Amino acid sequence: MHIDILTLFPGMFNGPLTESIIQRAQNDKLVEISIHNLRNWGIGTHKQVDDEPYGGGAGMVMRVDVISKAIEEIKKENTHSIYLSARGETLKQEKVETLSNEKNLLLLCGHYEGIDQRIMEGGWIDEEISIGNYVLTGGELPAMVLVDSVCRHIPGVLGKEESALEESFSKALDRKREYPHYTRPDEFDGLKVPDVLLSGHHAEIEKWRKENSL
Ligand code: SAM
Repeated sequence: MHIDILTLFPGMFNGPLTESIIQRAQNDKLVEISIHNLRNWGIGTHKQVDDEPYGGGAGMVMRVDVISKAIEEIKKENTHSIYLSARGETLKQEKVETLSNEKNLLLLCGHYEGIDQRIMEGGWIDEEISIGNYVLTGGELPAMVLVDSVCRHIPGVLGKEESALEESFSKALDRKREYPHYTRPDEFDGLKVPDVLLSGHHAEIEKWRKENSL
């Protein structure tokens, strides 16, 4: 999969996308992530990317001419483009799984008051996705959440020990929250591990896990 990210703050992606599993996935060429600075498409000597909202009000709106040009230059064939937006559909596991089948994703991160609506009206964006019913300062954190959750479902990204098959919201658990986990020691500060998990009885353990998935 190739993921293009359009942002005014490329530096924010250092860390979340350059460590651990997501970095390993890039090293292994399972996913390729390109981060583009939207400022490069800005207008004039000041590389302006936003302007005052028509109708008045606080905050600046990111310009349609700047964003559309950037998308047109970056977008490949068969790219599914997403604007991270508080107004969008809330991201759920089913959507994450669907997106993991895409060949190319383009993620647009808004800032300030948001982006000119004509970016959606003109078809430069396929869908708007929100990561929850609250407002963040920009679309960068939501983009990182989306990249992380999607990459986990690309075959080979997770090792056997980290399988995404049976975990919270997976099909295998009927989209429920996962059962609790325990490890050594089997007793700590008077707190015991449930007997069934120490029994070695696989069918009973399975049953317990199903019953404790919420
Ligand atoms: N005026 C917008 C509103 O009321 O919906 C909020 C704009 S917010 C300050 C700036 C940018 O952050 C948005 O353009 C969007 O890209 C991103 N953003 C904020 N909250 C988000 C959320 N819950 N999910 C996804 N993106 C979000």
